[in-house]
Amino acid sequence: MPSPYGNERTVSKLVSELEDAEKLSSRGRAYGRVCYLSHSDKRVVSWKFNEWDYGKKNITLPCNARGLFISDDVNNPVIVARGYDKFFNIGEVNFTKWEWIEENCTGPYDVTVKANGCIIFISGLKDGTLVVCSKHSTGPREDVDRNHAEAGEKHLLKQLADKNVNPNDFARMLYDYNITAVAEYCDDSFEEHILEYPLEKAGLYLHGVNVNESEFETWDIKDVSELARTYGFKRIESFPMNSLEDLRKLLDHCSTKGSFQGQEIEGFVIRCHLKNNGKPFFFKYKFEEPYLMYRQWREVTKDYICNKSRVFRFRKHKFITNKYLDFVIPILESSPKMCEDYMRGFGVIELRNKFLESYGMSGLEILNHEKVAELELKNAINYDKVDEHTKFLIFPISVIGCGKTTTSQTLINLFPKTWGHIQNDDITGKDKSQLMKKSLELLAKEEMKCVIVDRNNHQFRERKQLFEWIDELKEDYLAYDTNVKVIGASFAPSDKLSEIKDITMQRVINRGNNHQSIKFDELGEKKVVGIMSGFLKRYQPINLDRSPDNMFDLMIELDFGEQDSSLANAKQILNEIHKAYPILIPDVPTDNEIDKAFKKSLEYKPTVRKIIGRGNGNQPKTPKLIKPTYISANIQNSEEIIDLVRQAVTDNTELLQKFEELLANGKFQKDLHITLGHVMSSREKEGKKLWKLYCERYNDQITEYNNNKYTEKNENLCNNQTKLIKTTDELKFSLKKLCWDEKIIAVVVTLPGGEEGCLIDVNGDTVKGLVCQNEVPHITLCKLNSSVKAVYSNVLCQKAESTEVNDKNVKVFKLNKTKEFCASVYLNF
Ligand code: GDP
Ligand code: MG
Repeated sequence: MPSPYGNERTVSKLVSELEDAEKLSSRGRAYGRVCYLSHSDKRVVSWKFNEWDYGKKNITLPCNARGLFISDDVNNPVIVARGYDKFFNIGEVNFTKWEWIEENCTGPYDVTVKANGCIIFISGLKDGTLVVCSKHSTGPREDVDRNHAEAGEKHLLKQLADKNVNPNDFARMLYDYNITAVAEYCDDSFEEHILEYPLEKAGLYLHGVNVNESEFETWDIKDVSELARTYGFKRIESFPMNSLEDLRKLLDHCSTKGSFQGQEIEGFVIRCHLKNNGKPFFFKYKFEEPYLMYRQWREVTKDYICNKSRVFRFRKHKFITNKYLDFVIPILESSPKMCEDYMRGFGVIELRNKFLESYGMSGLEILNHEKVAELELKNAINYDKVDEHTKFLIFPISVIGCGKTTTSQTLINLFPKTWGHIQNDDITGKDKSQLMKKSLELLAKEEMKCVIVDRNNHQFRERKQLFEWIDELKEDYLAYDTNVKVIGASFAPSDKLSEIKDITMQRVINRGNNHQSIKFDELGEKKVVGIMSGFLKRYQPINLDRSPDNMFDLMIELDFGEQDSSLANAKQILNEIHKAYPILIPDVPTDNEIDKAFKKSLEYKPTVRKIIGRGNGNQPKTPKLIKPTYISANIQNSEEIIDLVRQAVTDNTELLQKFEELLANGKFQKDLHITLGHVMSSREKEGKKLWKLYCERYNDQITEYNNNKYTEKNENLCNNQTKLIKTTDELKFSLKKLCWDEKIIAVVVTLPGGEEGCLIDVNGDTVKGLVCQNEVPHITLCKLNSSVKAVYSNVLCQKAESTEVNDKNVKVFKLNKTKEFCASVYLNF
């Protein structure tokens, strides 16, 4: 072991730098939190920075340690515990790219297997007090339901007792060497992570020994191993690689297999040194799989428990995840207790293992066989079988005015619950596949059996595209084993084209403005004739001998006549489907019923206005986009916030009682959120600028909403409820204080980022310039009388924030600031 440490330990300079950084409003801001030690009246300050500030080129932090505890001593502060300098995944930052490593690092490369638990720092004070910390905290805490530091300590004491080591001696040894022992606490009985740590594998895996200095200094892995042996820690596997090339080969090999020596592992941490100054340099190499698959299973299970709806949209592992859901749903349905535990993080691995056992393969075997299994399954499903689970799509093949929409309306009037109709003319956005997406979405509804996908499809290319869309999108909306039959309806027989031309022309003139895009009065006869002739010229009638037309499961070849052609079409379609698929139409409706449905369909009026082509002076302007009413950050773990609020008022019996009463009566706001911007505040000058920025940022979602709104209206889905659209941006925040008066209960929150912006995008980067419009960002928890408006929270929170609260009715309580919460940004229409 290296020799005991005897130098001057005071880190006053570091502390003053940290305290300065604490005053920053954005970049590089430090957060200090005082922790009371469990076995001493001394205190330490836990220091941290925002996750995204580490490793940035343009930010220099006073110390790069992830986990840093300094004694709360004005004159002689010392580092009590120190984590590793934050290190990154291979390729994650510039200085973990292979080329960079090759140029700047030197071997040997000590490869250590990454344990999958929570990190624990162990150290000692001069008087032999043992100090055990989690990443950012130590000592007793009331604000969390699991105290990682305490659980780690309990385990440590047991382990030391087994080795006959007095904990104080151990602490003194750590102090003398001026080191922090860094271990991973892995124990499923305390907290499940992704990999399994049953009783026999549970324990503290010692993976590092850091010197308690500002600059990162850490022991060699063999000394770490030695210390682990002496004090009864579990040891992590490690081995040296001498050349970078060998290391790379090994890692690539393991990552394609997703395992190391047949074991599932999370990945490796590689320790080496910098060429120029010999300082330690760490990077990690995390495996994507089977982690990703397991995490996906966990998320879909939680989703199922919360919403009782089954997800079909998976990024990867579609087949096996569906199999997993098939297996776990009945189990979850039969055990509410299991669902409850699952949501608290227990039984996740057990459920996964049950599935793997029944499936007869390990996770790794599945990953290796996935492709094969998927194909096997597809072959095993009998797609020819038509039964009550089969669903149908009808594609017209036609030119303008042949009566597609009228015929479709006649049919859906006959089966309003089980048949649906999506019109291409109602789709106004750029994304053409919306036609298929909307159709599949509608078809996915339980009661829906058949959807008519109304578009001309007058060319092979368009028909081919329909089949491609089905292949590509079907499993996003429907269960993998749902059988979909595709029926074609050819409206324009090739031997009647000149007749069709005359009649449809006449019909379209009569239809007048009663169409989404072809408005006769606006376009004028010449233009309309031009558009219609274009379709006729390009028309490629069906050819059942070739692809794509030979892919239809059934083709209905309709005739065309002048008199009530759509009535005749509807009848023919009903009869032919009845014959081919009686499961869809067991009994053909009576003539009388069909007549009635047809008459109604002639009165059909579209609700969408669609602009085609480039506008000329005569054309109406694009309708104005509807903007959201407000933009909010909706909180994911409301319960934790409610708990912290409860703790803040525990000493005030009267308020506590009132609090519980309100909670029990469901008086709290249902969806807790922080309002980031409101259309009303956009009337003021500054607010206007900011609101514009928000609208620009979320332009895509706003456009999408506007496009969908019209089609939804058409499906009678539109109501007056607020419609929420999720964005991919997030907000991290912490609580500050609770404010309570006779009208409202609200929580003032602290947002990161200062003027630079408080939101982070999917890459974890700050979204420039988007700040909270409200002067005091807050969450409205509860309105105490029905007439008060939520904006009143602004008034209350501003009162609470002003230095002296004069208003006696306003009660203010400090809240636990350490816990970081996360919220997703939503548009509220
Ligand atoms: P699409 O362009 O193929 O969708 O054709 P539409 O269904 O919009 O029909 C064009 C026009 O012809 C509309 O004004 C319909 O009301 C009218 N139309 C369609 N089928 C019939 C029919 O069988 N009889 C009569 N009298 N009018 C029809
Ligand atoms: Mg139409």
